[in-house]
Amino acid sequence: MARPEDHQHLHRHDHDRPEHTACAHAHDHAARAPLALVEAMELCKARGERLTPIRQRVLAALYSTHKPLSAYEVIETLASETDKRLAPVTIYRTMDFLIAQGLAHRLESRNAFIACPARHAPDELVVFMICDSCSGVDEVSSDRLGLALQDLTRQHGFKPQMRIIELAGTCAHCS
Ligand SMILES: [Zn+2]
Ligand SMILES: [Zn+2]
Repeated sequence: MARPEDHQHLHRHDHDRPEHTACAHAHDHAARAPLALVEAMELCKARGERLTPIRQRVLAALYSTHKPLSAYEVIETLASETDKRLAPVTIYRTMDFLIAQGLAHRLESRNAFIACPARHAPDELVVFMICDSCSGVDEVSSDRLGLALQDLTRQHGFKPQMRIIELAGTCAHCS
């Protein structure tokens, strides 16, 4: 069972453990998913929000993989569990809620969604490293980069609402 502090760790992949094979992070995810879901429910409750059954199932689908899922893939995943197909609009509305609660992110470059493994502020700079080979995504943050970006946007009088950088390339596992 994953320790609670594991969730503070921003990396999705466990590159540091050499005994792990390429598919290990997917298994890690499955193991930690129930705990993450319980934490998400507590978080919403504390905020007076409701993690409804549909929201729980969508979030569970995101927790079950280290890869970003499109709305269509979420529909397929949930349909394979219950034989019930949710409408895309339901998925998008659910994602809006999960993103607003800081439980998920939207990857613009992939038109897909991914669970957020960290409890960071909504306006904190987030960098996604997206692997073209395995589709794995690492979410990382950098105070230094955040400050540099703040300087840059201030210089130009620009007020960012979202501070997300998406990088495409090859992860440490695949290279
Ligand atoms: Zn995040
Ligand atoms: Zn990779």
